[in-house]
Amino acid sequence: MKKKVVIIGSTGSIGRQTLEVINKHNDKYQVLAITADKNFELLAHQINSFNPEYAAIKNTHFIENLNILCNPQKTKISGGENALLDIAGLEQADIVVVATIGISGLMPTLKALEKGKIVALANKETLITGGTLVAEILKAKSGRIIPVDSEHSAIFQCLNGESPNYIDKIILTSSGGAFRNKNHAEIEHAKAIDALKHPTWNMGEKVTIDSATLMNKGFEVIEANFLFNVPYKDIQVTIHPQSVVHSFVVFKDSSVKAQLSLPDMRIPIQYALSYPERLVSNWQGFIPSKIGSLTFEEPDFEKFPCLKLCYDVGKAGKSYPVVLNAADEVLVDAFLKDKIMFYDIYNIMSNIIERHSPIEIMNIGDITEVDRWAKKETEDLILRKKI
Ligand code: MG
Repeated sequence: MKKKVVIIGSTGSIGRQTLEVINKHNDKYQVLAITADKNFELLAHQINSFNPEYAAIKNTHFIENLNILCNPQKTKISGGENALLDIAGLEQADIVVVATIGISGLMPTLKALEKGKIVALANKETLITGGTLVAEILKAKSGRIIPVDSEHSAIFQCLNGESPNYIDKIILTSSGGAFRNKNHAEIEHAKAIDALKHPTWNMGEKVTIDSATLMNKGFEVIEANFLFNVPYKDIQVTIHPQSVVHSFVVFKDSSVKAQLSLPDMRIPIQYALSYPERLVSNWQGFIPSKIGSLTFEEPDFEKFPCLKLCYDVGKAGKSYPVVLNAADEVLVDAFLKDKIMFYDIYNIMSNIIERHSPIEIMNIGDITEVDRWAKKETEDLILRKKI
């Protein structure tokens, strides 16, 4: 029996690579359903290549285009936010891959977990904004989360067969982003085009900018706290430009485990699909002498203040992480459009966090409300800066 896979966000970087993995192991997996935000051309191409039973596009304007480009007899095509949720909750699914960016990953994740599904989670914002809600559902239902992000997959793999009681600390690796070797003054005047030159990973624009600010690593710290129940004081970050060690787990007996591979997201994606098995793949040949040296250095919290901010926000909890995420989404978009400078991302974000009156997150409504407030405040501050 083939495992039936749903991909929420199949046209993004992780979604496309998930389809590559499925294509390689098409004796083991079949695509049950795929969804996209608005890229109907690529979605149509994927529908025609993988013949899923269902497909949905968030932007309803494009349903007609899909119906013309694809065979509606083979694939049931729908549109709108609820259509995406219906797909996330499909009874027939074995695994739901949540590969969207932004807060849009939260609802599909909750829906799939509600149905007791395995969620291969690539979306960061889900745990940042809705960690408490996810935790409640995980307690009540049989579903589980398998991390797709390379760092969390590494920790997950290192913890295989280990008791969580033996963890002393987690050390997340970071490539250092596009500006690792630039000084403060150079970074200050950098444009989006410079920040998009990521040294090792080829990813979407949002996450590449988040890598340049180290915001991405900060989000991963908050996620690691949630996924592995390790306190913030025991989660560290080390800069590792080669991106070969994907993270470390230090155990209480001072033994250290790490997971290594050449940087290739198909490896953690495949593991999330195949867990607890491992499938044969020849994505990459691992030859240590070709890699040469692996280096590690301390993160520069002054050059990259967003990382420290993430620790503070994570520790403060409540609705603060929702604000962090919402502000970042708006600020990265503004930076990509050259509306603000690089350090405005931190300056505006920290300003908004300072002004936030936190609430306990009890339901989706709380998240939506705080998210809306933070986005509006951020947009206002960006505008005021320009005047
Ligand atoms: Mg990562």
